[in-house]
Amino acid sequence: MLSQGSPSVPDMTAEPVTTQQPAAPADVPPAVPPTVRASLSPSRAADFKTCPLLYRFRSIDRLPERPTVEQARGTLVHAVLERLFDLPADGRTPSAAGDLVAPQWDRLVTEQPELGGIFPDDDPAGAAEFLRSAAALLEGYFTVEDPRRLEPAERESLISAVVDDELLIRGYLDRLDVAPDGALRVVDYKTGGAPREAFEARALFQLKFYALVLWRTRGVVPRVLRLLYLRDAEVLDYAPDADELLRFERTVVALWRAIEQATQRQDFRPRPSRLCDWCSHQALCPSFGGTPPPFPVGVTGADPLRDARTRPAAPGADE
Ligand code: SF4
Repeated sequence: MLSQGSPSVPDMTAEPVTTQQPAAPADVPPAVPPTVRASLSPSRAADFKTCPLLYRFRSIDRLPERPTVEQARGTLVHAVLERLFDLPADGRTPSAAGDLVAPQWDRLVTEQPELGGIFPDDDPAGAAEFLRSAAALLEGYFTVEDPRRLEPAERESLISAVVDDELLIRGYLDRLDVAPDGALRVVDYKTGGAPREAFEARALFQLKFYALVLWRTRGVVPRVLRLLYLRDAEVLDYAPDADELLRFERTVVALWRAIEQATQRQDFRPRPSRLCDWCSHQALCPSFGGTPPPFPVGVTGADPLRDARTRPAAPGADE
């Protein structure tokens, strides 16, 4: 069930909950059980659902994509919000968040040099405006949540679960809140300026993916899946149930089988939509007069665990 509007936030604490499988530390790929022969992240699954050719370009051809200013801003805001909760509760103020913006950007550019290419050295005004715009998004955050009342159980955590005995599903949570009664709330920050309706289905797909992982690893269906739209200062809550997650699990497994089949046939067709406006690969897409590169030699669907050996898309990467 979807609900929207009042950003009232019940207290959530870092009380431990009973887990069947502890979450892996962030950035450390979990051990892959021997029965697993494939892995899938919500971003890549959503790519295939959106457009099979986009999946191919990103996951099989591994074509580079230059980060856009919006993606960089999303990554920065996610980084600031993660670090904000390192501060003592009463120090999590708008000005403290603003003070984190520049140092976090410097850190990100050091760790991900491709981000540094967004603003050439001769555009200091552009870079300054970029930092101001990130600070403005953070102000939006403070209108929908009071971080002084929150103690997230997890931030930017890599979570994973095995479904159908063979498929490892995994991804990074922006934040997980746990109430004193053990109820889980999955929170995802949205910073993009694209029309929300164009991306909302993708965002909810991603949140259900996390809910499925949590259900399968902790035996608890999250009570709330929450999208926080920082630009609009709005909250969208979704309450999943076990039956729905069971159906969703079947959908994910079917999606993976479709990906395997498309890989074996080397048949990934374009599926044009409004999302093409945000696609980096129009020049290679037949729907825009382009020609995809030759299918990579040796890829027959035989290396589906490649994603399991590398870090999946980080929080904010899809913003
Ligand atoms: S431009 Fe559109 S149809 Fe073509 S690959 Fe990108 S998302 Fe798919």
